[in-house]
Amino acid sequence: MRLLLVEDDASLGRVLVRGLSEEGHAVDHASTIADAGESLAVNSYDLVVLDLGLPDGDGVDFCRSIRSAGAGTPILMLTARDGLSEKVAGLDAGADDYLTKPFAYPELAARVRALLRRPRDSAHPVLEVDDVRLDPASHTVWRGAIMVPLTPREFSLLEYLLRHPGQVCRREDLLEHVWDANYDGLSNVVDVHIANLRRKLEMPGLGDPVETVRGVGYRMGPV
Ligand code: CA
Repeated sequence: MRLLLVEDDASLGRVLVRGLSEEGHAVDHASTIADAGESLAVNSYDLVVLDLGLPDGDGVDFCRSIRSAGAGTPILMLTARDGLSEKVAGLDAGADDYLTKPFAYPELAARVRALLRRPRDSAHPVLEVDDVRLDPASHTVWRGAIMVPLTPREFSLLEYLLRHPGQVCRREDLLEHVWDANYDGLSNVVDVHIANLRRKLEMPGLGDPVETVRGVGYRMGPV
């Protein structure tokens, strides 16, 4: 999934970018509200992690402005303030969850996972298309009854396809949501990872679950 981290503390920012990237997310890091606004204007994010105390403004006001612009992207607020009124103000401004600093990284990672699976299908967090199943909570994938080990990037690619069943996911969309804004490596990186994913999902007697839509991208699930 594609995440925007808005955090002006450089060392905390580095830790969070590294941790979330290792879990297979594409993470863009902004350290000011101005930078975050620019990123939000040009990219579509699956989640925003937003610090409240920023050098050029207040995170609560920024959160409110994101919501008034109509974006439904889940927002996880990070606050050094422990007061009840701050949390209430944050949630009232449209944040979906908050975390008080200092926090342990595993708790942030768990809240990110919870928010990413919440909006689309909170009752059935396991994603399933035909005989391919992906559980975001336990980070596991099965083809039929067989568990399939994937790299974090392959997992993220499969998760994106499964969250858009029956839709054609364009290469540009996959690149944007599974890699990050600064990716400038191989132009065929999506195709290479799809090929690896197909190889790992290949089972005797079962068809190829990933459909190539020529010249456009890839699709999983019935049209
Ligand atoms: Ca701060």
